Amino acid sequence: MGDASAMLPVFLAAPEFGIPMKILNLSRDLPISHFRSLLPFPTNSFYITFNGKVISSLSDLIPFSTITVRARLHGGGGDGGSTCAESRDCYLNMYAEKKPDKVDPNETRISKWTTCALSAEPLAPPCVIDRLGNIFNKEKLLQALLEKKIPNQFRHIKRTKDMISVTLEEINGSEGHETRFQCPITGLEFNGKYGFFAIKGCGHVVSTKSVKELKASTSACVVCNKKFTEADKIVINGSDEEIEALRGRMEEEKGRVRHKKEKINLSGVKSVGDGGVEKIRKKEIDAGGGSKRFKAVDNAPLNANKKVYASIFTSSKKTDLKETYMCRSLPLARN
Ligand SMILES: [Zn+2]
Repeated sequence: MGDASAMLPVFLAAPEFGIPMKILNLSRDLPISHFRSLLPFPTNSFYITFNGKVISSLSDLIPFSTITVRARLHGGGGDGGSTCAESRDCYLNMYAEKKPDKVDPNETRISKWTTCALSAEPLAPPCVIDRLGNIFNKEKLLQALLEKKIPNQFRHIKRTKDMISVTLEEINGSEGHETRFQCPITGLEFNGKYGFFAIKGCGHVVSTKSVKELKASTSACVVCNKKFTEADKIVINGSDEEIEALRGRMEEEKGRVRHKKEKINLSGVKSVGDGGVEKIRKKEIDAGGGSKRFKAVDNAPLNANKKVYASIFTSSKKTDLKETYMCRSLPLARN
């Protein structure tokens, strides 16, 4: 490694290729063509963007910028060079250098508030949040849910019911800017500098300050006046403690649902059990109270004549002879 200032740590996002965000430590004077060739995708299947613009050089990037690998519409070089058999992830790990000790907290904070937590793409309504206050582009989350590609940290999202639709107030003329949303009451920007919460039910997203500023009651939405309880309030991108509190509440509610289901299940098992006992009794009665009787013929050698084989073990032999007043039908052996 050369001089530290010549190194350029960057976040690499490639959501369309289905790989998680990476930190790469690049040499600042690395030609972009060389960088492209290091990436494990066919070279003419993608382009590299920063802030939505295609870049042609790495030298203009500041440390900890997020660069995004975007797929070209008609991907694949058609040269057979990519077999898709190799894991792209392991290539990236190969080129990823040791994580820098400090990640610029500003960059992480802003991206949390301006991009989809799943796809890392800029937030674009319709948006949804989960029960822990992560915010997503609805389409991306739905797609991942349908394709069963929900990453581990979001595995609590199991069905569309776990997604809460939210309404974000757009800042006029913010198209293309990093921060695009604001509090509808105070105008504070949705960029991580201020606390925001969403209300489950009406879906409005407001700054914590709006409640204080309006001296509003904490049980009705400041936008639509719809009543809500503390349990309907979901802090967005909260602190560790706030997330833990939300997680606790989520587990508790899931526990309640599970408990209900178990109850239903138990009663189901009970009735099945009763039926089972009844069936067994009926069988016993049918079988004359005893278990299945041993029959020697069941164990007869394959080539044995079953009748003859059975006669070795039994003293009697079933007979078709019927007793009439003229003769008694007796087993032959006793004659
Ligand atoms: Zn509301």
